Amino acid sequence: MITVAVANQKGGVGKTTTAINIATALAATGWKVLLVDLDPQGNASTGMGVGSADREQSSYDMLIDGAGIGECATPSRIPGLDIVPATVDLSGAEVELVNVDDRTGRLREALSQDAGHDICLIDCPPSLGLLTLNALTAADTLLVPLQCEFFALEGLSQLLQTVERVQERFNPDLGILGIVLTMFDRRNRLTDQVSDDVRSCLGDLVFESVIPRNVRLSEAPSHGLPALVYDHTCVGSKAYMALARELIGRLPERRKAA
Ligand code: ATP
Ligand code: MG
Repeated sequence: MITVAVANQKGGVGKTTTAINIATALAATGWKVLLVDLDPQGNASTGMGVGSADREQSSYDMLIDGAGIGECATPSRIPGLDIVPATVDLSGAEVELVNVDDRTGRLREALSQDAGHDICLIDCPPSLGLLTLNALTAADTLLVPLQCEFFALEGLSQLLQTVERVQERFNPDLGILGIVLTMFDRRNRLTDQVSDDVRSCLGDLVFESVIPRNVRLSEAPSHGLPALVYDHTCVGSKAYMALARELIGRLPERRKAA
């Protein structure tokens, strides 16, 4: 299984929207996909239509109680896409993990027992705390949604420093899959400026596909559906499908079964 952490400590930049729609696009092309909601806000769970009554076993149980994926993953409405939901308990996990052995390796341990999925996407919370560190330690590679606004590059350098720290201490093989520009608004001059800056600083690390600001993308979660299912013809869905194609081309070779 290839594990991809979708992370950026900045809030509201499109992590969850990206995780949900890339997971859906990959499932639609025949991959067996696992989406792990690692954010106490539970937006990925709600956005996938998993109500609070259906969250008996969650990412909290994987991190704190050592529960396996088999117990925590539930099928979503999308064929081929399973989800490990999040509950509010997870907000306490940051504190509870402090006194636990191998506190950054808990998720890696839980995910290492998976046998049935080709790819796992982890939707991270907007922080660089222990939850995100668990995701970065468990991941093969990192996908960073970036909103084109004034402080974007500053936040990014902080994230990349954290990646270096994780590579040194916990996960030497952690790669960076790429940076995707989200909520792109061509009418806004600042968007263009920031996008030029990001591309000149980071070059090929930035995906060519750009996700436009699109109302349909923001409506979909309230229907408990990925935008790709809610309206596959909208510009936002098309952009996510293009991103998924580009992303598949960048994924590390699937690991051969032992
Ligand atoms: P958080 O840091 O709180 O987890 P996030 O980084 O996961 O946030 P999202 O929840 O994906 O960000 O997006 C934030 C808000 O913006 C949501 O209401 C979402 O529906 C909306 N949104 C995301 N992407 C787009 C887009 N391309 N166009 C319009 N609205 C969008
Ligand atoms: Mg989110």
